[in-house]
Amino acid sequence: MIKNQRTGSPIIPRNKADPTQSGKHVRKMYRDIENRYHGLKKALRQLFDLSFSGRERNQNSLYSYILAKNAQNEPDSLIRVNAGVYSYDLAERPDEYARFLERLQSILDEYLLDGGSENLWAFSHIAAEYDRGTLNAYTNLSLQSEVYASQTTLTYLMSQPAYQNQIAAAFISTFSDWRGISDAARADLSNIIGTSIARGVNPRETARIVSQRLDVSMSNAKRIAQTEQVGALRRANWNETTWASERLGLRTGLLWLSALKPTTRSWHAARHGKVFTVEEVEAFYADGGNRFNCYCATQPVLLNDDGTIYNKGIIDKLEHEKNGWKSSGRGENEN
Ligand SMILES: [Zn+2]
Repeated sequence: MIKNQRTGSPIIPRNKADPTQSGKHVRKMYRDIENRYHGLKKALRQLFDLSFSGRERNQNSLYSYILAKNAQNEPDSLIRVNAGVYSYDLAERPDEYARFLERLQSILDEYLLDGGSENLWAFSHIAAEYDRGTLNAYTNLSLQSEVYASQTTLTYLMSQPAYQNQIAAAFISTFSDWRGISDAARADLSNIIGTSIARGVNPRETARIVSQRLDVSMSNAKRIAQTEQVGALRRANWNETTWASERLGLRTGLLWLSALKPTTRSWHAARHGKVFTVEEVEAFYADGGNRFNCYCATQPVLLNDDGTIYNKGIIDKLEHEKNGWKSSGRGENEN
């Protein structure tokens, strides 16, 4: 009996639209990303000014198209250009062109992979969310269980090798995501520039298209960053939910809180107010697209022996919120 003695209810965040309370932290990382792309664009403009020498051609321009690849599962972009108006020196100097491409890649890496695999600039954002997730799990479980509160400290949790390993694992996947973003940008820009040179597109127009393509890359990077951050926060909650149960023999689960936004996917909203096991939640997020643009929280909760949540009142209230979202005509949205 002592084991399951409860002192309080799980925390339901006040801001319903942001149950993980990540908004502020995500925006902070977005600003970091924006500054990086800003610096990147400036550095590339300088490279172009140095490299795009040549001569104007005195002939009427021809319309042409450049096909640009977007993120996976998104349609490609067809960009209309004025061709046949410029002869690039690079077109006749393959060695110089090869050096130009190397320089392009190193500039991209300099800004997007700053710090490298050991100390990537993005790691601090991810570690902060992992810590916040751990703090959230700790606070929640402490409120719900006296046994947990009396036998757990935050310092203890954070000094555990399992905790360190999880952060290291999060860093590896974060680095690999950013490696992917930089590689995709390199492939996209090399293709744009190569085609522009071959078709004789004006260097100013080439630079303008490159800038637009970097905006596409940036919005993809932001989407991935939000996924990484909230992913780290959720992972920390899941881990402590599992570890608390192993360490103290408590029966724990995860209470699903959907943001219930107009854009929330119906199958995410449908989980609002339901309790799941860590394995069930992991399986949900392992399914490709569910991780992206997801604002759902999975809150650690203490359960009765039959797997139900102690404070039934909370479930009723959440159920009510979900029905309100449904009856406002939402839930038809697939995105
Ligand atoms: Zn979601």
